[in-house]
Amino acid sequence: MIELRSDTFTLPTKEMLEVIPTAVLGDDVYGEDPTVKELETLAARMLGKDAAILMPSGTMANLASLMAHCPRGSKVLVGDETDIYIYEAGGAVVCGGIMYEPIPTQSDGRLRIADLEKAFPDDASDPQFALPSLICLENPHNRKGGRVLPLDYLAEVKAFSESKHLPLHMDAARIFNAALALDVPVSEIAQHADSLQFCLSKGLSAPIGSMVLGSERFIEKVYRIRKMLGGGMRQAGVIAAPALFSLTNMVNRLADDHANARRLAEGLNKVEGIECNVDEVETNMVFFRIVDPRFTWQTFVRSAFHEGVHVAELGHGRIRAVTHSGITERDIDCALDIIGRVMRSGPMDLCQDS
Ligand SMILES: *Cc1c(COP(=O)(O)O)cnc(C)c1O
Repeated sequence: MIELRSDTFTLPTKEMLEVIPTAVLGDDVYGEDPTVKELETLAARMLGKDAAILMPSGTMANLASLMAHCPRGSKVLVGDETDIYIYEAGGAVVCGGIMYEPIPTQSDGRLRIADLEKAFPDDASDPQFALPSLICLENPHNRKGGRVLPLDYLAEVKAFSESKHLPLHMDAARIFNAALALDVPVSEIAQHADSLQFCLSKGLSAPIGSMVLGSERFIEKVYRIRKMLGGGMRQAGVIAAPALFSLTNMVNRLADDHANARRLAEGLNKVEGIECNVDEVETNMVFFRIVDPRFTWQTFVRSAFHEGVHVAELGHGRIRAVTHSGITERDIDCALDIIGRVMRSGPMDLCQDS
């Protein structure tokens, strides 16, 4: 099976697993796991932030960040196509008493300043209104095709958030992919956010974990909230050790994923009945549509799966394919052969909707 549903399917490499048995461990709830400390120090240094904290997931990383920034009854300005708004089970509402103000998302993942401006009440002293307490950006933007927000745009939103005296949080799950696409160090992206989270468990191929980064004071708050949410982990060095391996050894190879995504998009673009815009492929994601009327996206996905290519729909009937360390250039060519064959023969009978 050629697994293209997500880069979360990446398995830890043999070398990555080999660093676990020798990792020096302690109790991280006491702040005494040296391997976790080493990971947090390295991540903070790479992203140019004062402090970092290891979290069990990206979802908890975003939730704890929102709770650290936002008082109860305030609202967070967040894109209407973001992971935070769509895929995180409404956590900030439930756990933080924080209201989401969904902002329309442009096709390249941007939120327009004018749309952000509309979320601010004319009269902030009027007690009827919930007040904004945080602006969130997602970068790269998952549901908008893995698009990367330009640095000048980030600077513009940062200046806007400062003019409103609000912090800016970046859900930068795949920040290393963004940095690669822009050919800049990750710190150039991170400098525009007061806090960020990135995932170790996606393209970086670590089995578990995300990092939250920000000021010392902010990370102290997240440390307490992480414990409250049940995310305090004891000998978390067993997670931190492979994550350290990822940060030191798995970043440069992301270029292969980007090249493979481009190769896939160029191939799909030539297949009759498929619409794929190669110019929109900036990172390790390829979005495409089935325009052949014999297919629905469902019958396409099932037919492709039956033939050995696993993809998934990701909003508005678009299909997403994600490249990662488990996918070679040969897999891409093989996937293109299979998809070409599926499109020529039409939906498989066994896959028809009943
Ligand atoms: C995957 C992802 C998350 C959530 O991470 P989990 O570890 O799956 O909880 C958050 N934001 C974005 C943009 C993601 O892609």
